[in-house]
Amino acid sequence: MATLEKVDVVIVGAGASGSVFAAVLARAGKRVVLLEQGPNWEMRDLVSSEIWGRRLKPTGSPFQLEGRNAVGFAYNSGWGVGGATLHYFANFPRLLPTDFRMKSEFGRGLDWPITYDDLAPYYDRVARDVGVSGDAEAERRWRPVKEPYPMPPLRTFRHGEIWVKGFEALGMHTVPAPVAINSVAYKGRPACIYDGWCHVGCPTGALANPQVTYLAEALGKGAVVRPHSTVTRVLTNAKGERVSGVEYFDQKKERQVQEASVVVLAAFSAQNPRILLNSATDRHPQGLANASGLVGRYLMTHTGAAVWGIFDEHVENYMGITGAQRMSYDRYPKTSRKGAFGSTFWVLGPALKPNDLGGIANARGDLFGLELDAFMKRAARGLAKIQAFGEELPNPENRLELSTDKDEFGFPLARIFHTYDQDALGVWSGSLDEGMQIAKAAGAKEAWPARAAVPTIHLCGGTIMGTSAGNSVVNSYGQTHELANLYIGGPGIYPTEGASNPTYALNALSLRGAEQLAANWTSIAG
Ligand SMILES: Cc1cc2nc3c(=O)[nH]c(=O)nc-3n(C[C@H](O)[C@H](O)[C@H](O)COP(=O)(O)OP(=O)(O)OC[C@H]3O[C@@H](n4cnc5c(N)ncnc54)[C@H](O)[C@@H]3O)c2cc1C
Ligand code: SF4
Repeated sequence: MATLEKVDVVIVGAGASGSVFAAVLARAGKRVVLLEQGPNWEMRDLVSSEIWGRRLKPTGSPFQLEGRNAVGFAYNSGWGVGGATLHYFANFPRLLPTDFRMKSEFGRGLDWPITYDDLAPYYDRVARDVGVSGDAEAERRWRPVKEPYPMPPLRTFRHGEIWVKGFEALGMHTVPAPVAINSVAYKGRPACIYDGWCHVGCPTGALANPQVTYLAEALGKGAVVRPHSTVTRVLTNAKGERVSGVEYFDQKKERQVQEASVVVLAAFSAQNPRILLNSATDRHPQGLANASGLVGRYLMTHTGAAVWGIFDEHVENYMGITGAQRMSYDRYPKTSRKGAFGSTFWVLGPALKPNDLGGIANARGDLFGLELDAFMKRAARGLAKIQAFGEELPNPENRLELSTDKDEFGFPLARIFHTYDQDALGVWSGSLDEGMQIAKAAGAKEAWPARAAVPTIHLCGGTIMGTSAGNSVVNSYGQTHELANLYIGGPGIYPTEGASNPTYALNALSLRGAEQLAANWTSIAG
């Protein structure tokens, strides 16, 4: 075991949130080390192939998945430098103002300690930093708009456009989806070539992953990434009043201690609470930042209501981006669905490849062999997809606890309990019914809803923000209430999740939190 020279900041996880913290703190002249459990993926490791793309995803997870709707890891996990945003789809919608005040407006869920207006300037700055394409004016019907996106919308393809008639028949509006993908050359990165391989990592640099945005900036300003470094505990001083660094296991599986003035946990919604709970000491018997017992509580995921249609024309479904061509917030108001509370967010027209997540083969999970072969031949020409993300309300029983089983480092695995309530299931089911009406009105020759299982996408919560240690784990900057020099980044700090994809908001929140830390460095870091 070695104790390494003390640095200003140690960041656990080199994914979306960790990269923003690293850039801001390196910009402020701090000595930053990122510890990342996976490999040091670089742009040259990204290959437009479903087989090669699988290398970017974790094999086996340290979680035991329980409950009626066990959390699926396919849409949640990152492994290695870049995190899940190395192979995410770069849909970049915002949360809407009502998401921040659900309790006070509807008596449901929880309130955020900040409003949409507090976050809006950071959304606009992130758009400029990473490059977002879209039409902000067209979104004015749903949200306040201050700044346009820095790039015009991406071009569209028939397998997205073909649905618009169906939405309009139901009186719904769709607009270009905002995506963190270049529609034109931007900041030295090229425009998208629409080959639809984003889900295995965009090799051209058109898509904003950390390697071409915040992480690149951080490394350029002296931050250091240590790959194959698995953090197991955050360490505290003798009085238990401050954190002093982290314990981790390096590539040789040797235990190391990295001392730091500030620790940022950015290891995603599942790992952050696991590490906090495993960091229990005599002074913090329930784990760090957990006097309230809320660490690991209020986990949430999005349902995903996918509706498939086969059209009688060549829709070029292999073209475009893995994310969305168009979107609609028309069913976002919380009471849009009869008998079920929560938001719905529609996206249209992802590019389809043969296999894997969202691939053509998965459109009919019930078919095998020759039947599947025949379906895929037909679908290759006319298949198109729409999907509605649905909100789940925060529920303390959806939670993460340490298991009695341990991994190779003696780090307890975690049990994740997750069950949707009737509202989430109602929103999902209502969206599937609506999607079928849309498909019919759009002229689909055949259409079917993906009803086999309710997806559990985008894990949020587990270390929620609030106004005090009594009702939450962190404040609105991600700073833990109990230990001033311990921060948490990522969607784990959301007290409610809305229905839109989470990464734009987590970038904005990380930027806001990191700048508060840099601005108050002396009082926080000591
Ligand atoms: C297939 C897929 C598609 C997605 N598409 C979209 C989309 O279109 N739009 C959107 O908004 N969001 C999307 N997401 C979600 C998005 O990727 C996440 O919201 C985002 O990556 C979360 O950021 P994070 O920093 O919290 O975690 P990550 O980006 O996952 O980074 C966490 C990092 O921590 C590391 N780590 C974990 N544990 C440890 C440990 N003990 N020690 C050291 N390192 C550790 C991990 O290896 C990982 O690299 C998608 C996700 C997936 C999987
Ligand atoms: S479609 Fe565009 S963003 Fe996606 S992988 Fe290809 S070039 Fe990159």
